[in-house]
Amino acid sequence: MRRWNGWGDEKNEFLLKPEGLAFITQRIGAGNRLPDATLASVVAKVPPSRLPAHALIVTDAEDRVRHARGQSLPDWLAMRSGDFGVFPDGVAYPQDTQQVRQLLDFCLANDIEVLPYGGGTSVVGHITPVASSRPVLTLSLEKMNRLLALDKDSQLATFGAGTPGPSLEEQLAREGYTLGHFPQSFELSTVGGWVASRSSGQQSLRYGRIEQMFAGGIVETPRGTLEIPTFPASSAGPDVREIIMGSEGRMGVLTEVKVRVTPLPEVEKFYVGFLPDWASAVNCVRRLAQGKVQLSMLRLSNAVETETHLVLAGHPNLVGWLERYLRVRGIGAGKCMVTFGVTGSKAQCKAALAQANAVITAHGGVNAGTPLGRKWESTRFRSPYLRHGLWEHGVAVDTLETSADWKNVPALVQAIETSLRDAAATFGERIHVFTHLSHMYPQGSSIYTTYAFRCAASYGETRQRWAAMKKAASETIVKFRSTISHQHGVGRDHAPYLAAEKGPLGTSAIHTLIAHFDPKGIMAPGVLLPGSVRDEGASA
Ligand SMILES: Cc1cc2nc3c(=O)[nH]c(=O)nc-3n(C[C@H](O)[C@H](O)[C@H](O)COP(=O)(O)OP(=O)(O)OC[C@H]3O[C@@H](n4cnc5c(N)ncnc54)[C@H](O)[C@@H]3O)c2cc1C
Repeated sequence: MRRWNGWGDEKNEFLLKPEGLAFITQRIGAGNRLPDATLASVVAKVPPSRLPAHALIVTDAEDRVRHARGQSLPDWLAMRSGDFGVFPDGVAYPQDTQQVRQLLDFCLANDIEVLPYGGGTSVVGHITPVASSRPVLTLSLEKMNRLLALDKDSQLATFGAGTPGPSLEEQLAREGYTLGHFPQSFELSTVGGWVASRSSGQQSLRYGRIEQMFAGGIVETPRGTLEIPTFPASSAGPDVREIIMGSEGRMGVLTEVKVRVTPLPEVEKFYVGFLPDWASAVNCVRRLAQGKVQLSMLRLSNAVETETHLVLAGHPNLVGWLERYLRVRGIGAGKCMVTFGVTGSKAQCKAALAQANAVITAHGGVNAGTPLGRKWESTRFRSPYLRHGLWEHGVAVDTLETSADWKNVPALVQAIETSLRDAAATFGERIHVFTHLSHMYPQGSSIYTTYAFRCAASYGETRQRWAAMKKAASETIVKFRSTISHQHGVGRDHAPYLAAEKGPLGTSAIHTLIAHFDPKGIMAPGVLLPGSVRDEGASA
């Protein structure tokens, strides 16, 4: 069963091994384990629902608890403390597009706010209800989870928008196809959520981001039904797909999603290499991206992330052997790990591997082969469980991300890490912070930073510390004129920073689009843009 107060299935865990714990403790000090609330105590706090009765809406308290929060650190603190604040007034589980339409009409008629809910894996406050004078309905797409059509000639698959990653890939694999979208949240996130939040998967180098995969579909908006036809390409004016991608539930509910799929590859292998230092490593991956070497994934860990991964891997003998070997090859302290994949026909993979090896060698690096790559592959969706392992020892962990042009990447990585460290120092704490680049483009790269810190004496103080660090890092990103998100989206947490990158005219254009599809402002108020269309009417 899915955990109500953390990540994933209750059966799965990822405990911290003693050497991992010692490593973290040495860097930030001994953690401070805060007490967990019980599900029963939280259920007891759920107020009566304000929703009028409807056959498709459940107002059971446990359903409302289980859909009240996503997976951001503030969500995690709310779930663990039991201090949820606001619960949705009910949860609906429609089975098809018609039922979504019925529900939207019901919400319009009764002035009810709607929060579309895919897999609930948002890390930026997308699906968290906030206090409102109107009742709030969470609209879960979980029952709309099937492959509805597959056009093999055009390689287009139509899915119910609530189809989660594993089920989507299983249904396609039976037909010999893959979508190739593998965000780290793959286990729980859904195809509708990917489109609505402009997601990026680990193998974006081969398959593209969701932008390249999303071909069209059906969106039920408060204003009516929007059908987006599929074209291989079109020059017929602005692209309506682009309006819906990243709309984060504010313009309507995606009910059917058409995606571009690919035949299952003949070969897929992952490798891990090492570069002597960060500067040569960044040049190496930039060269791989700009040289358009046909890799399917590419990830570069900075020195601290490399060291952390090797320690947490929990195989000290194997890692000791590897480090001795690397030292002989001139790669010691400060080394950076590069993980990459080749996917496709045997000939494509062979050529890509040879090119990648040549670039790595030219930058003073070594390809250590497939053993660590296989390890990465087998644990690629397991690392979110590590948050539990750390929490058990009183350590909170969060991640943040952006993207930047290559010329800004090194300085921005350093500035983000420094801003987090400096913010932590203001409350007398050290943090363990590290970064990787995991989606690379000829122009630049995503930047993904992880930071771990000790919980404070109370939940409230821990949250304040998180807010101070998050603010410092977000302001740094804005100062560099980088994007507030490369892949997690805007939600409520990033909404205050959106105007800085869109500008006044861009922001008001987004506002106008939202108001066009949702004139009464019932869809996810406060997500993407602060406030609801209703409140903002005068300022727009
Ligand atoms: C451990 C972890 C790892 C992650 N790794 C990645 C990663 O590698 N790459 C990445 O891109 N993201 C990642 N994320 C973030 C998150 O998984 C993505 O934002 C994902 O796309 C959300 O999908 P979901 O189905 O869970 O959507 P939800 O979290 O349920 O919703 C997200 C937003 O989309 C809207 N929405 C959802 N479904 C619909 C629909 N059918 N119609 C209209 N609106 C809808 C919601 O209203 C909300 O605004 C990660 C999150 C976690 C917790």
